[in-house]
Amino acid sequence: MAIFPLENPVQHYDWGSLNAMSELFGMANESGQPVAELWMGAHPKAPSIVLADDPVALNVLVDGQAAHLGQGSLAKFGQTLPFLFKVLAAARPLSIQSHPNKQQALAGFTNENHLGVPLDAFHRNYRDDNHKPELVYALTPFRAMNGFRPLAEMLALFKMVELKPLAEALCWLEEGNLKAFYEHLMNLKGAEKEGLVTEALSFAETSDHPAWQEVCRLNQFYPGDIGVLSPLLLNVIELTPGQAMFLKAGTLHAYLEGTALEIMACSDNVLRGGLTNKHVDVPELLKTIEFDTIALADLCLKPEQEENGETRFVAPVDDFLFSIIEPERACEPFEVRSAEILFCVEGRQAIRAGEQSIELTPGRACFVSAMTESYQLEGSGRLARAMSVL
Ligand SMILES: [Zn+2]
Repeated sequence: MAIFPLENPVQHYDWGSLNAMSELFGMANESGQPVAELWMGAHPKAPSIVLADDPVALNVLVDGQAAHLGQGSLAKFGQTLPFLFKVLAAARPLSIQSHPNKQQALAGFTNENHLGVPLDAFHRNYRDDNHKPELVYALTPFRAMNGFRPLAEMLALFKMVELKPLAEALCWLEEGNLKAFYEHLMNLKGAEKEGLVTEALSFAETSDHPAWQEVCRLNQFYPGDIGVLSPLLLNVIELTPGQAMFLKAGTLHAYLEGTALEIMACSDNVLRGGLTNKHVDVPELLKTIEFDTIALADLCLKPEQEENGETRFVAPVDDFLFSIIEPERACEPFEVRSAEILFCVEGRQAIRAGEQSIELTPGRACFVSAMTESYQLEGSGRLARAMSVL
């Protein structure tokens, strides 16, 4: 057997949605708890289960196994599946965060090991030595903050009102020193910080500018948190269903609301900058942030149409490659170069390889082992394909 149906674990984080997964995929939510994420992959924290006569965790099946991962994947990415694939359903904002690049992750992980910080400690920043680039593909309208706005936009927003605790710091922004400005903001404490948030909110409540309205909205969830000012610094984007964006290492971002597919490198390294009850380490966060800016219009990935009928969203990393397939347009067999996970977004698809055939319905996924040379698709709807680049 080379294609395996999967049973995927659900994460009940408090920001999750009560009904998004049941509305999109007909998954019953018997627990009555928020359903935040569905994980598809071999992450030891919550691996998918391979449905066979003897069910087994996907990491147990594939880790270190050249037959399943492919020799090339073992050599390039190590012992396990290089990516983690998720469905993410946010009813309210997630924390503002940045992920380290590979060197930072290795240095941070080694250092915390050296200091004897337990891997599961509350204040542990680096849980592994890998980077965590992310790609998000919207299934419903999906709102997020991603990357610093162009400086002129930031200045215009901050200058709509006089915010006394920032009066001097704004000159850094005028000089183009975003790092100094952001550091100043993140290091405000006590009465100064409270004063700033209070001043900002009293203006936000009167403003009809979308960025300032977002400040009000964030404050409903995290009253008084300095992170509520983030919409003034960061692009606020709404992806329409079928649009995708990439989040590179060192990009400050936060998912706000909506349901999406998310694919990332296999890592758990998150440095937070507010809107959270979890650990926030400002100096370490500042070390990882890239202080460059990006225009809203440049955030979306341009879909690339392949001859075999798939639509690729190419991100500048090798850990994962994400595409969407509409089986009715796919005529040729799909060649397998590395281990894959296929997820049925809508409709119904049969995946055939040799004698084997597996049917997927919305919300269901399968693992395609690297020993599969190629497979053919029949059916209709939309299938999401996740693999890595060798
Ligand atoms: Zn993230």
